[in-house]
Amino acid sequence: MLAEVLSIGNEVISGRILDTNAQWLSRRLEEVGYRVRFHTAVGDDAEDLIEAFRRAAGRVDLVVATGGLGPTEDDLTRDALAAAFHLPLEINVEALDQIRALFARRNRVMPQRNELQARFPRGAQAIRNPNGTAPGIELDVAVADHADGPSGGARAAAIDRPGFRPRSRIICLPGVPAEIAEMWDDSVARRLMEHNARGLRIVHKQIKCFGAGESQIESMLPEGFVRQTDPRVGINASATTIIFRISAQSATVDECRAKIAPVVETLYAKLGDLVFGEDDDELETVVCRLLAARGQTVGVIDCGSGGLVAERLGAAAAGAEGFRGGCAPGDTAALVRLAELCGQRAIAGAADGSPTDADTRDSSNAAARAASLAHAARRLWSSDWGLAVGPLPPEGPQASPPRPFAVAAADGNGVQVKELPYAGHPAWLRAWICKQALNTLRLALLRQ
Ligand code: ATP
Repeated sequence: MLAEVLSIGNEVISGRILDTNAQWLSRRLEEVGYRVRFHTAVGDDAEDLIEAFRRAAGRVDLVVATGGLGPTEDDLTRDALAAAFHLPLEINVEALDQIRALFARRNRVMPQRNELQARFPRGAQAIRNPNGTAPGIELDVAVADHADGPSGGARAAAIDRPGFRPRSRIICLPGVPAEIAEMWDDSVARRLMEHNARGLRIVHKQIKCFGAGESQIESMLPEGFVRQTDPRVGINASATTIIFRISAQSATVDECRAKIAPVVETLYAKLGDLVFGEDDDELETVVCRLLAARGQTVGVIDCGSGGLVAERLGAAAAGAEGFRGGCAPGDTAALVRLAELCGQRAIAGAADGSPTDADTRDSSNAAARAASLAHAARRLWSSDWGLAVGPLPPEGPQASPPRPFAVAAADGNGVQVKELPYAGHPAWLRAWICKQALNTLRLALLRQ
């Protein structure tokens, strides 16, 4: 199949920035089986963009455009795309949800202006942008969609040319290279392999890891392992979970699986218990599965993730026995009140006054508080396991050096504690704390 890369923006055509997106995308497109026929660059001009979209859609099977998806007036991509194919722009609910979720994760109110980024040509699909506000756009257009447009004559003539393609897929991505790379690994490569399947079967597999960063995990693997192309192996981070996405293309599903199997084997062998699951697994579903297999239960006291640990375990265990309950005291006073209600000295010990310098600076103290909360959670909920997130340092995650907090999982035989620096990107901090707690319980269950 033939492809064209369309780079959009005055910055590109004026030479202020080098069009590295076109180079990067051409390489990636080749890996998933496309032959790139054209590179086109267009400035921020509506008429030029409309013309560029129409011309590209008329001569290739796939157009990948980058840039101009922002919320400002000079971001014209979505309007031009709609106008080029005579489609109305309407709010795409999925895109709007994605944008709202991103602002929520960053604890920011979504400015009204950003709603513009959810205006999609009718019939288009949203492409997730894990770390940016502009979701990508995927739109399939037919010749008839634009044959009567301003350049309809040229189009009609083109239709008669041998090799003219009746349908074309257009994918619009933002301009920021890091966002494009992330979206590519997250879903674009997979979508394109399916688009370009040519009767071949495609099988996808995801292997999910938690507990180390993307580059550290990559360095544990053989040279060239990530980004190999047959099967295709991509890696990206989604809210601090590291995901390997493996896709194989072959005549039969069995052949695809045979290509994927050694890759999966290597990941398990090299990464050990950093791998927590596959495909739709999340840490909470894995934990619930381990608890169910052992016929055990867990209860939570969570002073750090704002109730997220219980929320996720509750959702994952819905209808099952494994999750007994959770509480999330919001501050020291609430912890003291909880201690009074339960008559538990362990909780009172952990809540003992407002955290002092010694409490938070002295790492063993943070660990000891989380450990005693984990034991207390076990008793509070009469569960086999107690899972705790200890109180967070009051200065917040910007302190330098960062102060420690701890998570702990206790059963009748003892307690596993993990101490961590309270620092990280505000967008992921709460989810990261929650995942650290769930992962500590997962590892404790595996070592039981
Ligand atoms: P945003 O939502 O961030 O505004 P956008 O889709 O509007 O994204 P642009 O504003 O067009 O994207 O580009 C954002 C930045 O991405 C540019 O300032 C530039 O640094 C980089 N960029 C854009 N196009 C390219 C390109 N073709 N090659 C390399 N970098 C690019």
